[in-house]
Amino acid sequence: MKEPTPDEKALLDAKFRTRIAPNLRRHAATLSKKESELVLKQFMPAVEELRDEPGFSDDPLHEDDRDIHPFPDVVHNYSTKILYLTTDECPVYCRYCTRKRRTLLSKGHKTSALQDVVGYLRERPIINEVIFSGGDPMMLPVEDIFQRLRTFMELPSIGFMRIHTRALTTAPALFSKKFFALLESLRRDFPQKAFHFVFHINTAVEMSTAARDVVEKLAAHKVRSYAQAVLLKGVNDNAETLAALLKELVFSGIQPYYLHQLDRVTGSAHFEVSDEDARRLYSELKTLVPVYMLPKLVRDSKQGKTPL
Ligand code: SF4
Repeated sequence: MKEPTPDEKALLDAKFRTRIAPNLRRHAATLSKKESELVLKQFMPAVEELRDEPGFSDDPLHEDDRDIHPFPDVVHNYSTKILYLTTDECPVYCRYCTRKRRTLLSKGHKTSALQDVVGYLRERPIINEVIFSGGDPMMLPVEDIFQRLRTFMELPSIGFMRIHTRALTTAPALFSKKFFALLESLRRDFPQKAFHFVFHINTAVEMSTAARDVVEKLAAHKVRSYAQAVLLKGVNDNAETLAALLKELVFSGIQPYYLHQLDRVTGSAHFEVSDEDARRLYSELKTLVPVYMLPKLVRDSKQGKTPL
């Protein structure tokens, strides 16, 4: 990756927020040079981000369109579930983040009162699932996470809750003793409500002993772990790297779930893998791992995910 000049760096800093959690930097320092570069290039500013490419925008999934955006922090584009955007903060800022308008480009925005969101759900009992996303929900104070989870779980219509996070590999210490104590009481009080994690992990080398321990502890509380990855040029766009990821996930107790084509967000064109290459990679991947390890290869849109 070409180093930005001081002028380019100033432009990049003015445009996008950059953050790499100390834990991830420490983990990267334990890897080989090649592996470390592979991990860090997902978060380091690059000159290519300054190019405006046709077809790329700040809101590639049109989540801010009024018809699916009833509150500043709610996206409702599937009839039976809502995405609850809990925060703009993350332990790292991925340069290709779909929600870059709220993360790398965040200048703050209105939020909704939790009770307003609850009222929305009460009026629509067809909605049975709330997905905490963001930003990274694990950046909220731990008491706040569980208070919100409890508020939703108290609704009879909500049977399923999920947290989407990258903190497993970027800041595993957020899964603290306090977190697991609160989880234990949540599971005791709501045994019939499904509660699971979906982790964002793009390469096997991102996993650490601390991350594997977290997955084990979650499983002990009957919380399943799933993973989604984004296909990124120069990071994981070859079948061997993806096969290594899938094996690492399954051996760590995480079920691969989705492999996403890049959402065409501003400043991310240099990470894009063509659909043709993505399909070819996926066919090769099928020959390297058993079918139960295979995530679904999908492209996201306002209308939902479609197989590639
Ligand atoms: S951790 Fe998730 S929400 Fe945060 S920048 Fe990365 S992709 Fe976006």
